[in-house]
Amino acid sequence: MESLSNKRKVLIQKPLNFWERIYLPAIVKGLSITMSHFFRKPVTIQYPEQKREFSENFRGMHSLKRDEEGRERCTACGLCALSCPAEAISMIAAERKKGEENLYREEKYAAVYEINMLRCIFCGLCEEACPKEAIYLDGDIVPSEYLRKDFIYGKDKLVEAPLNQ
Ligand code: SF4
Ligand code: SF4
Repeated sequence: MESLSNKRKVLIQKPLNFWERIYLPAIVKGLSITMSHFFRKPVTIQYPEQKREFSENFRGMHSLKRDEEGRERCTACGLCALSCPAEAISMIAAERKKGEENLYREEKYAAVYEINMLRCIFCGLCEEACPKEAIYLDGDIVPSEYLRKDFIYGKDKLVEAPLNQ
């Protein structure tokens, strides 16, 4: 059997011609590519001063919606948390008390509702699972933070502002 070393081919380096030895054509070619890019419209933008328009399908930060009377729609049913593949949502349900009918739409509401934005993959499954049309990923991009704890968004950041604000 032919040994492996016998099968290897030795590459013989082709000797450089005159133009290759003086490098000038290669330099001119390189410069021409640089110059052709120099006069093209730049693809970069001055973020954050300039922002690109998002597509219609863009999924941004979540918002917990209110109904037409300004009451929180979420009933803390937990379906969004159950459907979340990243286990990013947690909540604590509470019973609506007498006199709170103008705050919460139904008898149960989320006293605590948190989304860990570091876990979230913005898949939109929570939005699809919600039977109350209470959660939508229609916000902006999640801003950067220095501390991990600041990526846990509570109701203060998630619930829509009241109607009269
Ligand atoms: S968008 Fe997806 S990953 Fe993010 S909270 Fe909703 S279900 Fe979870
Ligand atoms: S956001 Fe929707 S699915 Fe999630 S707990 Fe509230 S009502 Fe249920």
